[in-house]
Amino acid sequence: MPGQPAQMPPQFSQANGVYCRYCGATPAIDLDFRAHRGMIVLMQFRKLPGPFCRECGLASFRQMTGDSLVQGWWGPFSALLANPFTLLSNLINRARLAQLPPPIPGAPSLPMDPGRPLWQRPVIIGAFIPILVIAFIAFGSSNSGSSANRNNYHYLDAPTSTYHVVPNVPVIPSIPALPTTPATRDAKAAKVGDCVWDKNGDISKDDHPKLEVVPCGDSRAQATVLGKPTGPIADTQCDSQYPATDVIITHKTSIGGGPEIEDFALCLQTK
Ligand SMILES: [Zn+2]
Repeated sequence: MPGQPAQMPPQFSQANGVYCRYCGATPAIDLDFRAHRGMIVLMQFRKLPGPFCRECGLASFRQMTGDSLVQGWWGPFSALLANPFTLLSNLINRARLAQLPPPIPGAPSLPMDPGRPLWQRPVIIGAFIPILVIAFIAFGSSNSGSSANRNNYHYLDAPTSTYHVVPNVPVIPSIPALPTTPATRDAKAAKVGDCVWDKNGDISKDDHPKLEVVPCGDSRAQATVLGKPTGPIADTQCDSQYPATDVIITHKTSIGGGPEIEDFALCLQTK
């Protein structure tokens, strides 16, 4: 009708033909806010359907999102999938809602009071729950990993578990190779045909070599395992059974703090 817009209050031009489900005001936007409650076995999904005017939408966003921040993390599916989806969906709809102008006064009932912003409410603490959980998991796994390593090294370096070079074997000097890749395993795991290197230096001169198994093609490999006899006189079997042996490494173990007893020997041929 000609002339009619000029007679109307300016905010009438903002009416969009959508009315808030809760207060009847316009403009409004049709979207839903969700809340999620995670439980170990059960889960609860709540949905507050629109349309919303700006005030009712803001109030609903804050209420539902706040509930989810506190209640939404309890259970693996909830924490990993359902609650992140709920929060993301609410944030997207919150951004859409922000495009609405304020509701035009004179609606059938008063719009909801949006109250304080979410970040000023105690429930915002819930936003840190997943961060804490992730940090806890990361810390826990890195901690258990490093303690496993420490145990390994402790085992290797245990004072009751030592290597001794048998001195009366002819020694062929060799140049220690530079380490290129991390060593693979302790010499206790060495098998016949494996190659070893001495972390402490020259395998043929070192009184307390620290042996690790490396691939025979590795530049660090210093000697090949010809035989691995076991028992308290294992080292004597290297000479008799593996004539090519030029270095014998014995391994001794003390059980329960008693005297060290030879438990195996490595009959080695240096490269
Ligand atoms: Zn409303």
